[in-house]
Amino acid sequence: MATWDSIVIGGGIEGSSTAWQLARNGHKTLLLEQFPLPHTRGSSHGASRIIRHGYAEPFYVEMMMDAYKLWREIERESGIALYRKVGILTLECHPYEGIKVMESNLAKFGVYYKRLGPRDLKKQFPMLTYPNQYHATLEDDGGILRADQALKTIQSLFSSAGGTIEDGEKVVNITPGHLISVHTKQDTYKTKNLVVAAGPWTNKLLEPLNLKLPLQPLAINVLYWKEKEQGEYSPGRMPCFIHSSRDRLQEFYGLPCEEYPGLMKVDLHTGRAADPDARDANNQDQWDVKLVAEFLQKHLPGLEDKPSVMERCMYTVTPDHNFILDRHPKYENIVIGAGFSGTGFKLGPVVGKVLAELVMQKAPSHNLYPFKIDRFSKSKL
Ligand SMILES: Cc1cc2nc3c(=O)[nH]c(=O)nc-3n(C[C@H](O)[C@H](O)[C@H](O)COP(=O)(O)OP(=O)(O)OC[C@H]3O[C@@H](n4cnc5c(N)ncnc54)[C@H](O)[C@@H]3O)c2cc1C
Repeated sequence: MATWDSIVIGGGIEGSSTAWQLARNGHKTLLLEQFPLPHTRGSSHGASRIIRHGYAEPFYVEMMMDAYKLWREIERESGIALYRKVGILTLECHPYEGIKVMESNLAKFGVYYKRLGPRDLKKQFPMLTYPNQYHATLEDDGGILRADQALKTIQSLFSSAGGTIEDGEKVVNITPGHLISVHTKQDTYKTKNLVVAAGPWTNKLLEPLNLKLPLQPLAINVLYWKEKEQGEYSPGRMPCFIHSSRDRLQEFYGLPCEEYPGLMKVDLHTGRAADPDARDANNQDQWDVKLVAEFLQKHLPGLEDKPSVMERCMYTVTPDHNFILDRHPKYENIVIGAGFSGTGFKLGPVVGKVLAELVMQKAPSHNLYPFKIDRFSKSKL
């Protein structure tokens, strides 16, 4: 039986990026995915994701500086365009605490942005109706990542770097040790290192290894709304946006009509607790659809009041909404990437880089302190 340098469980954006980084660094790497690829059951499917530098936490802005470079590198290496620059607006009500922090982080890293008061906002984006107590920050470099294409591209870079993908292979058990045994329904593999990047299924794999992380999988309705007047919300006129609020039930985001012509993707930034193996059960009441419709009526009245298309996806959130990028507390050679809390796609290449560095015992390129598992231990809560 062959021994792998590394096995990565999970063919989503985080696992695939990690596998690619390992393979390009000379690790003999196997990527195991439970479903035949591509699939729509986890968190990384769909044609689009927002990319931006702006975050309330400076460590994410720093990582995003690296992420933009890595996405460009992926585009260069593959010859495939994955990023479309359309700008991103972050909107917030007085006293603008969130956008003030974000702006100071952007300034610290030299990222260009512009503050728009109510008059500028109306002039530049007449398709938005916001009362005077709202301000917006416009980051020019914000844009759209072609998500499905990006995932496929990274997986093919992984294969070109000598990596092996086995899809339709569900890992059912892990026996830790100096040489780890990874048991799938079909086979057993031996590896020196293991990366668990299993998205909403993470705890199902870790609990038998005596580790239960505070992860909550959420089922997310992905909604697409038709514009009443053709072209009003098209890229070039309409940027991506985030309507920021302290109340998670009032946080919305949107991408201009790009993915499906004439349909704008606008969603609530949360969902309902769900088992990833039964994601679509109990989804009748659609309270989130109502909240988005009410939001649109107030602020994007040029969109119809019922979604034309509804798809489904999953978030896996942590209590502080920060990622988990760390080793298993007991098993040094098991590395975990989880809890991407609905914002992890754009950072996928950086997550892959730092998880691979953990595996390869290299100094991480970024400060991983905010992502440590022990931040959840009782004494620190
Ligand atoms: C609607 C929606 C909108 C989003 N918008 C944005 C955005 O605009 N910008 C942004 O940056 N991020 C966004 N995100 C978040 C981002 O997409 C996720 O953070 C990211 O995709 C998480 O990837 P992952 O690899 O951790 O998880 P996943 O994609 O779920 O991958 C995990 C993989 O592990 C596999 N797996 C699990 N268990 C096993 C097993 N036992 N054996 C083998 N394989 C296994 C699963 O099948 C799955 O393929 C959004 C997410 C959603 C749902």
